Amino acid sequence: EELQTQQEALKNANEELEQQSRALQESQTKLKSQQSELEKAVQIRDDFMAIASHELKTPLASLKLQTQLFQRCRAKGDSNIYSPEQVNNLVDQSEKQASRLIKLVDDMLDITRISTGKLTIQKEQIDFCTLTKEAVERLKPSMIQAGTPPEFICAERIEGLWDRFRIEQVINNLLTNAMRYGNKKPVTVLLEKVGSGVARLSVKDQGIGIPKEAQERIFNRFERAVDSKQISGLGLGLFITQQIVKSHGGRIWVESEVGKGSTFF
Ligand code: ADP
Repeated sequence: EELQTQQEALKNANEELEQQSRALQESQTKLKSQQSELEKAVQIRDDFMAIASHELKTPLASLKLQTQLFQRCRAKGDSNIYSPEQVNNLVDQSEKQASRLIKLVDDMLDITRISTGKLTIQKEQIDFCTLTKEAVERLKPSMIQAGTPPEFICAERIEGLWDRFRIEQVINNLLTNAMRYGNKKPVTVLLEKVGSGVARLSVKDQGIGIPKEAQERIFNRFERAVDSKQISGLGLGLFITQQIVKSHGGRIWVESEVGKGSTFF
C-alpha cells in the first residue's frame, strides 16, 4: 500500500514537472519572439537615425557652402562679385534650406509627441474652406515653380470644430507631396460636404502614382514607396497626417495608379 502511495506521488510529481517544462518552453518561445521584435525595433531606429542624419546634413551642407561663398567674396573685398539677381537667388536658396531643416525637426518632434501620446488637438470653430484656401495660396508660388500649379475648388463655407494649426499641417503635407511626386503637372484641391457633418478634402495629382502594394503601408512610420536616391524624405509626413486626421475622428486613404497619379482623401 505504501509503495502504491509512493508511486502515485511520483506520478503526480512527474506530471507537475512536465507541466513546468511546458510552461518553460512557452516562455522561451515568447522571449525569443520579444527579442526578435526588439531587434527589429532597434534596426528601424538605426535606419531612421542614418536617414535622418543624411536628411539633416544635406540642407546644412548647402547652407554652409553658400555662407562660405559669401565669406570668400568678403575676404577678397569684392562685394560686387555677385550680381543682385545672384544674391537674391542665394538668399532664396538659403531660406529654402532653413525651412527644410525646420520642417524635418518639427516632424521628428511630432513623432515623439505621437509615441508618447502628447499630440494635442485644440479645436476651435473655423471655416475649413477659408483655411484650405489660405494654405493653398501660401504654397501656390512654390507649387507653380515646381510645375504643379494648384486649382482650389470649394463651393460653400464648411464650418466645424478643427485644430487650425494641425489641419493646416495636413493640407501642407498633402500639397508638398503632390508637388514632390506630381511629375510637373497641375494639382486639384477639392473640398466638399459629403453627408451631414462630414467634410471631405481631396488632393489630386497627376504624378508618379503609388503601387497597390504600398497604398496602405505608406501611412506607417518611416514607410516610403520610392528610393531615397530619387526623392529624399523620411517617410514621416503621411504618418503624422494620419494621426492628426484620426484625432479629429476622420480617416485618410489614397486612390492611385502608377504613372497616372494619386488622389489622397
Ligand atoms: P516622404 O515623402 O518624406 O517619404 P510621406 O510619409 O509624406 O514621407 O510619404 C510616404 C511615401 O508615400 C513617400 O515616400 C512616397 O513613396 C509616397 N507618396 C506620398 N505622397 C505621394 C504622391 N502624391 N504621389 C506618389 N507617391 C506618394
